[in-house]
Amino acid sequence: MSDENKDQTATSGQKVGVYVCHCGGNISDHVDIEKVCENAKNIPGVVKVRDNVFMCSDPGQELIMEDLKSGAVDRVVVASCAPDLHETTFRNAITRADGNPYIYEHANIREQVSWVHHGEQATRKASRLVAAAAAKAKELKPLEPFRVDAKKHVTVIGGGVAGLRAAKDLADRGIEVALIEKSPFLGGWVSKWEHVFPTEDKVSDIISELTRDVLNDPSIKVYTCSHITAFEGFIGNFRLTFARKPPESDAYRDEIERLSASGRGMGEFVPFAGVYPAGIPESEEEHVLETGVIVLATGFRPYTPASGEYGYGEHKEVITLPDLIRIISENREQGGGESLVWNGKKIKSMAMIHCVGSRQIPGVHEADEKGNLHEYCSRVCCSATLHAANTIREAHPGTRIFDFYRDIRTYGRGQEEIYESASGNKVIFFRFEAQEAPEVMENTGPGGQPLRVRVKDTLTFGEEIEVPVDLVVLAVGMESNDVSDLVQMMKLPMGVDGFLQEVHPKLRPVEVAVSGILLAGTCQAPFDIGEACAAASGAAVKASATLGRGYVELDPPAWKPAITKAP
Ligand SMILES: Cc1cc2nc3c(=O)[nH]c(=O)nc-3n(C[C@H](O)[C@H](O)[C@H](O)COP(=O)(O)OP(=O)(O)OC[C@H]3O[C@@H](n4cnc5c(N)ncnc54)[C@H](O)[C@@H]3O)c2cc1C
Ligand code: SF4
Ligand code: SF4
Repeated sequence: MSDENKDQTATSGQKVGVYVCHCGGNISDHVDIEKVCENAKNIPGVVKVRDNVFMCSDPGQELIMEDLKSGAVDRVVVASCAPDLHETTFRNAITRADGNPYIYEHANIREQVSWVHHGEQATRKASRLVAAAAAKAKELKPLEPFRVDAKKHVTVIGGGVAGLRAAKDLADRGIEVALIEKSPFLGGWVSKWEHVFPTEDKVSDIISELTRDVLNDPSIKVYTCSHITAFEGFIGNFRLTFARKPPESDAYRDEIERLSASGRGMGEFVPFAGVYPAGIPESEEEHVLETGVIVLATGFRPYTPASGEYGYGEHKEVITLPDLIRIISENREQGGGESLVWNGKKIKSMAMIHCVGSRQIPGVHEADEKGNLHEYCSRVCCSATLHAANTIREAHPGTRIFDFYRDIRTYGRGQEEIYESASGNKVIFFRFEAQEAPEVMENTGPGGQPLRVRVKDTLTFGEEIEVPVDLVVLAVGMESNDVSDLVQMMKLPMGVDGFLQEVHPKLRPVEVAVSGILLAGTCQAPFDIGEACAAASGAAVKASATLGRGYVELDPPAWKPAITKAP
C-alpha cells in the first residue's frame, strides 16, 4: 500500500478488502488477475488484496471472514461473477463473521469483462470496475434490513401434479394454501395418461391419492375454473385477484362426461363435491387473496404439429402421442385383443416418429408463426414413446411397431430399461438425421395400408427404406403453456425457450428474479412426473422457509413500503 493510501485510510477509518476471483479459468484466462490485484493495492482506502481460484468456495469465503474477524478490513469488495449469483453468498459470509452485510460491494468482472472482452482491455476494465467498487465501498454505512410482516399463506397457481404436490407439502408445514386451477379438473396432463413410466403406476392411483390429500386438508382451499386477473404487492404481502367463471366451451363438460364414463377421470376419484363437477360456478365470481408467496405451477402443453408436418392434418391416420395414449387406454377398457383397434380398424403396423416439435434446427425446421423454434429436447418423449410401444407390443402382439428416431434419450433411473424392453419386444428401429427426416405419404402400393413412411436409415448406412403402415404417431414435445398474462402482470422472466426462467439452474433453481415468486414443475422446463414433484417440493420448502418467521427481511430501501411494521 502506498503512503498516500495509508494516510487516507487513517483519516476515513475505513479499511477496504478486495477479493478477486479466478472462477477456475473463466475469469483468469482473459483477465490478468495479478495485474488487477497490483492495481487494487494502489486504490485509496484498500488495505488488503487477495485472490482465490473460486471465491464462492468455503476456502474463498474464509479469506473474507478471517480478515473481518481479525479487524484487518471493515469494508469488502468481491470481484467475481454477476451479483445475482453470489452477492447473497458473500453477504452471508460477512454476517457469519459478525459483520454487517451492507458493508459489501460487488464488482462483476466475469459477465461484464472476461465473457465479453479479452487481453489488455479486459484487464484494464476489470481494474476500473474494482476501483469503482472500492470507492463506493469506502462510503458504505452499516444498515439494518427492513422488516415487514408476511402473510403465512401461499397461493399455488396450477393444479397439476406439481401444484398439488407443492400445496400438500406447504400445508404439512403449517402454511395456509390457496390452489388456483383454471380448468374444472385437478391433476393436469398426468390425469390424461394411463399407466406411467418408469414405475407403471396407474395414474388414477397416484393422482387420486394426491388429490384426496389436498382436498381433505383443511389448510388448503381449492378454486377450480379460476384465473388470476390482477396482481400487486411484494414478497410477504402480495394481493391477488382472481375470477371464477363457468367454462367457456362445452369441451370441458364433454371431458367430464368422458372421464366419468371411462371410470378413470376426475369424476371418479375426486371425493369432493365442491370441485367436480358440481363445483363449476354458474356465474362469474371475483375473489381477492392476501398471500405471502406465489408458486407458479402452470405446466406445459404438448406441441401441436403444423398442418402438413409429417402429414399431420392431411391424413387422418397421422396422430400424436397423447392421442395414442388415449387409444391404448380405450383398448384396455374394451378388454384388449390381438391387434390395437383404432376407429374400428385393426392396426397391424404402426410408425412412431421422435422429436416432433423438439430439437429443431435453424435453417432445417420451420419456425412457428411467432418465429420461434423449439431447439431444446423435450426429455420425456423418448421414454413415453417407447413405453407406449412396449404396452402395445405386450397387450396386442399383432401390432408391429416401427420406431423412427434421431437419438434415444431414455435418461432417468429405470428408463434405459424401457429402451431395452422395446428391443426385446421386437420394436424395429430406424435412425434418421435431422436434415433427412422421414417422409409420410399416401400408400398407393399393395397391402391396404393407407400410409407409407420413407426414411434414409443411418443404422444401415443410409439405405432408403419404405414402410407401409396403418397409423403414424408423432412423439410431440412439450412447450410452455401460454402464461403471457401472468408474465406481464408479475414481470416474470422467460427463457428463449418460452419456459419461465429461474435465477440460476443450480444455485437458485426454483426462484425467479421477482422476490417471493417460485417455480414448480413443467412451467420451468420439460420434466417427468418425478422431476416435477421434486421441483414442487423444493418450492414448498423455499416458500415455508421464507414465511416461517412471520416476517420477511428486505434490503434497506431508498423508499418505504406502505405496509410496514417491525415485530
Ligand atoms: C405424451 C406424454 C406422456 C407422458 N408420460 C409420462 C409418464 O409416463 N411418466 C412421467 O413421469 N411423465 C410423463 N410425462 C410428463 C408429465 O406429463 C409431466 O411431468 C407432468 O404433467 C407435469 O406436471 P405439471 O403439474 O408440471 O404440469 P401440467 O400437468 O401441465 O399441469 C399444469 C396445471 O396448471 C393449470 N394451469 C395452466 N395455466 C394456468 C393458469 N394461468 N392459471 C391456473 N391454472 C393454470 C393447467 O390447467 C394444469 O392443470 C408425459 C408427458 C407427455 C407429453
Ligand atoms: S461462480 Fe462467481 S464466485 Fe464462484 S468461482 Fe465463479 S466467479 Fe467466482
Ligand atoms: S426426448 Fe427423445 S423424442 Fe423427445 S425431444 Fe428428446 S430426443 Fe427427441
